[in-house]
Amino acid sequence: MTWRKLLPTPRWLPREALMHPQRVVVVGFGIAMVLMISVGLRDLYLLRDRVLAARQHDLALRALGIEAVIAAERFKAEFVRDYAQQLIAIQQGPNALPTDPVIEQTYAARNQPVWRMAVPDGDASVIGVSPEKLAGLEGFTRRDADLRADLHAARQLSHVLGISQRTNEDADNIVTFISSNGFYVTYPPRTGSAAAELMQRFSTMPYYRDQLPDRNPERILRVAPVYKQFESNRLRTTTLSIPVYVADRFRGVVALDVELPRLRTLIGAPEDRGAVRYLVDRNGSIFATSRGAERTDLRWPDDMGERWKHTPLVELFARDNGMLHKDGQYLLFQQAGGRGNWIMVDTVDDSAIYRAVFRRTSLPLLAIWLALPLLMLVTLRVVNHLFSHYLAAGARLQELSDTDPLTELANRRSFGNRFNHEAARRQRDGEPLAMLMVDIDFFKRVNDRWGHASGDRVLQALARALRDNLREQDIPARIGGEEFTVLLPESTLAEASETAERLRGIMAQLAVPAAPDAPPAELASGPIRFTVSIGVAEAGTDDCQTLDAMLATADRRLYAAKAAGRNRVCAADAPDGSAAAPTVPE
Ligand code: GH3
Ligand code: MG
Ligand code: MG
Repeated sequence: MTWRKLLPTPRWLPREALMHPQRVVVVGFGIAMVLMISVGLRDLYLLRDRVLAARQHDLALRALGIEAVIAAERFKAEFVRDYAQQLIAIQQGPNALPTDPVIEQTYAARNQPVWRMAVPDGDASVIGVSPEKLAGLEGFTRRDADLRADLHAARQLSHVLGISQRTNEDADNIVTFISSNGFYVTYPPRTGSAAAELMQRFSTMPYYRDQLPDRNPERILRVAPVYKQFESNRLRTTTLSIPVYVADRFRGVVALDVELPRLRTLIGAPEDRGAVRYLVDRNGSIFATSRGAERTDLRWPDDMGERWKHTPLVELFARDNGMLHKDGQYLLFQQAGGRGNWIMVDTVDDSAIYRAVFRRTSLPLLAIWLALPLLMLVTLRVVNHLFSHYLAAGARLQELSDTDPLTELANRRSFGNRFNHEAARRQRDGEPLAMLMVDIDFFKRVNDRWGHASGDRVLQALARALRDNLREQDIPARIGGEEFTVLLPESTLAEASETAERLRGIMAQLAVPAAPDAPPAELASGPIRFTVSIGVAEAGTDDCQTLDAMLATADRRLYAAKAAGRNRVCAADAPDGSAAAPTVPE
């Protein structure tokens, strides 16, 4: 396209960029969007991490809450243990209280299958069984020598437990001192009807068994795995227990139940759909879930779904807290209730994380993302509009600079270009290249008789006749006032002479209506008729290499035609090189 030459191209800009500004816009916006998207994705990635960290943090805080509850219960258990130890120790020392009827009555009943101490209403009940009932129960032996001291301690303990539990509204949990001497002090008070079964149960329950000297030589407080409460299938519980030692001898266990509903409120519920929180003990019992208690016997890993079926609990207990990811779900975990006792677990679906991330995504960033393609479309439209306008203007300008406005034929400048093009081709292919020079005979007279406007009409008629009667590849042009040239590629001198003769004949037949401003007399006299004279030249034959040389030859022959009487074609010079004796074909 020739208008390319019109584009000023800065050195740093590839020409292609100017040729296709739309592509520049698309590439520019594309790069911007890719950058934005990569920055955005990085942000989302960081946000995801932050959301997960916030959840982990939440778990840690809740674990602290559970820790605080356990610490309070631990304190209570330690207090009861210390108190029991102190009471027994005093009673066995020099400051022992004198025995009284209640102790004696109880002591006297010690060999009945089940016996109770008479205590005031609202105190913890003191219930024991006979040595026969203790037979074979691990961790229990009747020692009559210790029994009076133990009963003294039990009576004081019964008061204190009664008072402390009654006055503390939160304390709805069970506190029990289980004496290895075959009785127990428990609050809330019990009837004792199941005392024998209860003793049997104690001897097998972890909170008692695991406190025996060989199983807990360090005498530390332990949190028992979750179990079903005695005589109740509904409520499950866990128990803190700590052994009682007097003079280095095991004397029983203080056991303190922690109610699960209390823990359930402490673990709370994750706010997202698809997120569940569990509290799991070290034996794999899931004793609290944020889903509500649809079942009370949930177990790890069987009830954790296919995804976590092969994740062993020890893997979680090995760390304080952490995070696992599998098949579109995160598992966040955090130890709670003392190391090695419980694990709090959050399972969160990826989709819930994405929702949380989306809620926290910066709105301006999102808006820019959405705006960029819109901006690109708008810019493209503007650029398109401007560019097509510019192209059209460029094309129009080109046309104007190449065309004669009156006849719309090529002007001298563009004729020169076309000639150079054809001449180069001729040299390449060795084809002939001919040229005609056409001049209207006595054109001045046309102007004089009919006026200048009519003269213009004649010029236009002649141009039209040239256009209509030439081949596609021929190039007619107006190179002067009423002088026309025709470039005839691939035409020999003889062929060009034939064409010239044909054109001459056609022109002689033309009848051009005069312009309205012509004198009325001339208007009435009918259309304007005219003739032309034509000079013919051919590049090879006449040895004309340049435009000027060819024009000169054609012009010379044109004048020869004029001199020979006009309305004729001249295609050869006189032998002496002058135009005096032209050859005029018939
Ligand atoms: P001949 O060529 O036969 O010797 O006689 P001529 O009368 O045609 O003489 P010449 O070719 O020298 O005349 C040129 C005239 O053409 C002069 C001028 O008035 C007229 N002419 C040139 N350009 C235009 C134009 O654009 N419009 C009109 N109407 N006349 C023009
Ligand atoms: Mg002339
Ligand atoms: Mg003339």
